[in-house]
Amino acid sequence: MNLLEERIKRDGKVLSENVLKVDSFLNHQIDPVLMLEIGKEFAERFAKEGITKIVTIESSGIAPAVMAGYYLNVPVVFARKRKSLTLNEDLLTSSVHSFTKNETNEISISKKYITEMDRVVIIDDFLANGQAARGLVEIVQQTGAEIAGIGIVIEKSFQPGAEELKELGFRVESLARIASLKNGEVTFINEKVEELI
Ligand code: 5GP
Repeated sequence: MNLLEERIKRDGKVLSENVLKVDSFLNHQIDPVLMLEIGKEFAERFAKEGITKIVTIESSGIAPAVMAGYYLNVPVVFARKRKSLTLNEDLLTSSVHSFTKNETNEISISKKYITEMDRVVIIDDFLANGQAARGLVEIVQQTGAEIAGIGIVIEKSFQPGAEELKELGFRVESLARIASLKNGEVTFINEKVEELI
C-alpha cells in the first residue's frame, strides 16, 4: 500500500534494527484519514471471505480494525490486556508476551462476542514475532469460529512471525512489509526486489 509506505518513510522513526516508531500517525496520535484508507484496503482484500467479525487487541489494533469493520459492515471485538471490573462474563484468555514492552499479559475476550458461527479476520498494527497474533488465534479457536485470515498494518518481514503464521496455514495480508531497519533506514520488501532487478 503506497500511501502507507510513503507515510512510514516520511514520519516513521527507526529506533533500532528491530523497532520502528510510528506514534505520530498510528499508535499514539492517529491519522483518521490514513486509517480509513487502511480499513478500505483490508476490506477489499477480505471482501470475498464472508467475514462476520473482526478481532484485534488493545490499543493500537483498534483504529485500523474499526475502519476495516466499517467497510466490511461487521462488528469489531478487541482483546483486553487487563481485566476490567465490568468484564465479568465468561472470558476466553491467552497469554501474550509483548515485543515492545517485554512483559507478558493475559489477554481476554468475553465469550459472548464470538461464536462458532463467526468467520473472523484478526487485525493488528505490527507483526514481529507473532505472539500477539497467535494469542488472538488461540482465543478465536477456543470459540470454534473460523479464521479467514490475519490483516497486519506493518509486517517486519525480517522477524519470524509472518512466516510462522503462514506455515500454520493462515492467510497473512500485510499492507506494508519491511525487509530491514538497518542503518536507521526503512527498506520495504518491494524496494529490495526492485534493487535486484
Ligand atoms: P509480536 O507479538 O508479533 O512479536 O509483536 C506485535 C506487537 O508488538 C504489536 O501488537 C505491536 O504493538 C508491538 N510491536 C512489535 N514490533 C513493533 C515495532 O517495531 N514498533 C511498534 N511501535 N510496535 C511494535
